[in-house]
Amino acid sequence: MTQSGAVTIIAPKVVDVGGLPVARLLPRAGRRTIGAWCFVDIAGPVDVSVATMQVGPHPHIGLHTLSWMIDGEVMHRDSLGNEQLLRPGELNLMTAGHGIAHAEQVPEGAGGRLHLVQCWLAQPEATRHGPPDFAHHAELPRVEVAGSDVTVLVGEVLGARSPVRCDTPLVGAEVMLFGALTLPVDPSFEHGVLPLDGEVMVDGIRLQAGHLGCLPPGVAALQISSITGTTRVMLIGGQPFSEPLRLHWNFAARSRDELATAVSDWNHDSPRFGTVGGGLARIPAPTLS
Ligand code: MN
Repeated sequence: MTQSGAVTIIAPKVVDVGGLPVARLLPRAGRRTIGAWCFVDIAGPVDVSVATMQVGPHPHIGLHTLSWMIDGEVMHRDSLGNEQLLRPGELNLMTAGHGIAHAEQVPEGAGGRLHLVQCWLAQPEATRHGPPDFAHHAELPRVEVAGSDVTVLVGEVLGARSPVRCDTPLVGAEVMLFGALTLPVDPSFEHGVLPLDGEVMVDGIRLQAGHLGCLPPGVAALQISSITGTTRVMLIGGQPFSEPLRLHWNFAARSRDELATAVSDWNHDSPRFGTVGGGLARIPAPTLS
């Protein structure tokens, strides 16, 4: 993590998830969240004949999983009975609440590439004990501005509001950035800017592909510009998450006891998480150290 003026830059940590290269940006020591965004992974881009995604049934509590497909296809199955293929330009938002389980896999026989943004959003106290839910969004609002193209994933950008549920004040967008862009933002939010396939300037700071530039609250407009032609940029942000968030494996809670109970419930096949179809093996929860 390096500091350039007001911008903190996080380099990607590349992890191997069953042969699939994944760049992890959040959480990191010293920067656990941006708003309620508490987990940011970029899977691929990778040819699915080289590495594929076959993630068996596993549980979540206390968070939303947000999946934004750039390239490729993934089938989602969950314990509410949903079976939903996620395609490019589509978004899945799964709400865990007190408990849900799901599995994700590239369909058998699929070719081409996989490039997927997978994030978690911490749920606040008001909703984290509530029922699980799942929503698929095949279309999201798009705004063209100064040669750039903005897709609003969560919250509101340039007056366009996403229909995606958010339980805390948040923003999320994909910007196909061409040249310079001034984006008015909520000054009570902190923000993250993540160019995926080229370099950009953020408030005068150069940001390499795959690096997350973090900006503190107090910014009323983001100044971003592409250096290497049209660049795909993820923008995330939100009001700083003030609750005492604790993460373990796929669980978000407030205390060690809650996390230990979730581990035990999953590993003892509690009805809390239900069952998932699809035939992949269930992933056991690692015990808390
Ligand atoms: Mn998951």
